[in-house]
Amino acid sequence: MPFLALGLAPALAHAAQAMGFAAPTPIQAQAIPVVLNWADVLATAQTGSGKTASYVLPLLQSFVQLPPASPRRVRALVLVPTRELAAQVGEVLRALAQDLPTRPKVVVLFGGVSINPQLMALRGGAEVVVATPGRLLDVVAHNTLRLGHVGTLVLDEADRLLALGFADELQRVLALLPARR
Ligand code: AMP
Repeated sequence: MPFLALGLAPALAHAAQAMGFAAPTPIQAQAIPVVLNWADVLATAQTGSGKTASYVLPLLQSFVQLPPASPRRVRALVLVPTRELAAQVGEVLRALAQDLPTRPKVVVLFGGVSINPQLMALRGGAEVVVATPGRLLDVVAHNTLRLGHVGTLVLDEADRLLALGFADELQRVLALLPARR
């Protein structure tokens, strides 16, 4: 089944093909139509199964339906446990957003590096933020990021995010979001 048949916009189906994705993987075929219906999804899939695109594609579709406006507001937040994963997800987001008529601004936040370039990157706002929980809380404390308009939350590698050591930070991040689950 091609990407278009899952309900994805042509610009996104095309971007997936441009990345060399000939057809959706099983996790993509199962998750994408459900997320496009705005349902909550809890999915388990191994590394290498294509799980990143399974949430990135439907997340980006919301920007086809409702393009970024001014002022820029964070509409989607992706939480990840490591800086490597944060950088990787940011790249997939940017690559798959390539063909969108109005591309959302994506900002990636992770610890272990100076916070200043990340604060600079947030100037003028952003529509999508990919972050590790600790650095996200630091950035919020600098008053440079508001999360009151987040409509989509992704917990990538949720098992690690929910594990001891992260759980506290995660709860503090969730408390900043408008929706309750
Ligand atoms: P992930 O499980 O998200 O880490 O993805 C693993 C690898 O699979 C990445 O290199 C992706 O670029 C690739 N990939 C994702 N979706 C597809 C697809 N539908 N067809 C072929 N490769 C894919």
